[in-house]
Amino acid sequence: MNYFTRKDTRLHVENVALDRIADAYGTPCYVYSRAAMEAAYLSYDRALARRDHLICYAVKANSSLAILNVLARMGSGFDIVSGGELERVIQAGGDPGKTVFSGVGKSESDMRQALSAGILCFNVESASELKRLDRIAGELGKSAPVSLRVNPDVDANTHPYIATGLKESKFGVPMEDALALYRTAASMANLRVVGIDCHIGSQLTETLPFVTALQKLLVLVDRLATERINLSHLDLGGGLGIRYRDEAPPPVSDYIQALMTALGDRKHKVLFEPGRSLIGNTGILLARVEYLKHGTHRNFAVIDAAMNDLMRPALYDAWHDIQPVQPRSASSRRYEVVGPVCESGDFLGHDRDLSLAEGDLIAIMSAGAYGMSMASNYNTRPRAAEVMVSGGEMHLIRERESISQLMSAERLLP
Ligand SMILES: *Cc1c(COP(=O)(O)O)cnc(C)c1O
Repeated sequence: MNYFTRKDTRLHVENVALDRIADAYGTPCYVYSRAAMEAAYLSYDRALARRDHLICYAVKANSSLAILNVLARMGSGFDIVSGGELERVIQAGGDPGKTVFSGVGKSESDMRQALSAGILCFNVESASELKRLDRIAGELGKSAPVSLRVNPDVDANTHPYIATGLKESKFGVPMEDALALYRTAASMANLRVVGIDCHIGSQLTETLPFVTALQKLLVLVDRLATERINLSHLDLGGGLGIRYRDEAPPPVSDYIQALMTALGDRKHKVLFEPGRSLIGNTGILLARVEYLKHGTHRNFAVIDAAMNDLMRPALYDAWHDIQPVQPRSASSRRYEVVGPVCESGDFLGHDRDLSLAEGDLIAIMSAGAYGMSMASNYNTRPRAAEVMVSGGEMHLIRERESISQLMSAERLLP
């Protein structure tokens, strides 16, 4: 199923034409397909149907409340990396009891908040974190459920900024320290060892690194069992890639199948923490061409969206397809598609063959993940509006930020 299609040449999200959305809510504007989101969730849920499982959507990929709510209604759990994300999950109707807490820098207040909310598991990333969690759980008279996030030292073959499973990464505990740390955890009065966790990187386009990581994990899991440290769940992280351009990641079902084969007849509950593969291809960034600058060396299409709205091209040199909402028949030119921000790194696409006129609408595709959640106010630009399409309906799920909101926390000197 494709949820982004052309009808009478105009680009639609489900049954709503994008120019109608621009007329109603302005640009720049993120537009999501609810049906695409639900289908992506079901692709995981169905592939795991024969296992005890929980899909914990990685909130950082897109933390907008309506998106969390759509997934919560499907039964999704959540993977959070801050107390703020936990509040979002709760506000969106998500279940803290289906929520795992990842991240190398959990603060004391994060821990208190998560213990009080009754989360499913802390994915602990260091010896110091274990100690701190044990102490805080003791102070609250609680027992903290923990997994260790183990770093299996596998090369995920992805962009260095989003590879997290190599020895030199800041994430997780090294495999060779994990056994000793599990023994420590098991001996701590206010901790309950419930699982193991690993997440080796993002935008992975092959299955092998995931399988290799799991095999390394299983050696440890089996060893722990001989010491009567029995885990109830294995959290295999997220990281499956999507197609932005010509990448060919395995379908979710093949990826899950390969991992379940490696798991064999072990009876553990399995958790996954997908972010990008759940929502990356369910959203676009809708923008309008402000100016065309045709030069002898280069042509620029200056649009009203910028790096502060979608940081991935500037940050990772990421490639997003750029499509006109209403194509023109005139011959195309090669454009640098850039925003109004005062940085040379402010581009959304290089060398794109497009036929454009000033005022045209364009869609920057595959912008559902790490788009809005990474948006900033650089250049005092209010963050974009967000719209969710469902069938023939469009719903504003986030108003465009106002300038007064941007300044509301600031004070002048007396
Ligand atoms: C970012 C992250 C994820 C999600 O990664 P995707 O590539 O978006 O699937 C899952 N788990 C952890 C610990 C993460 O940091």
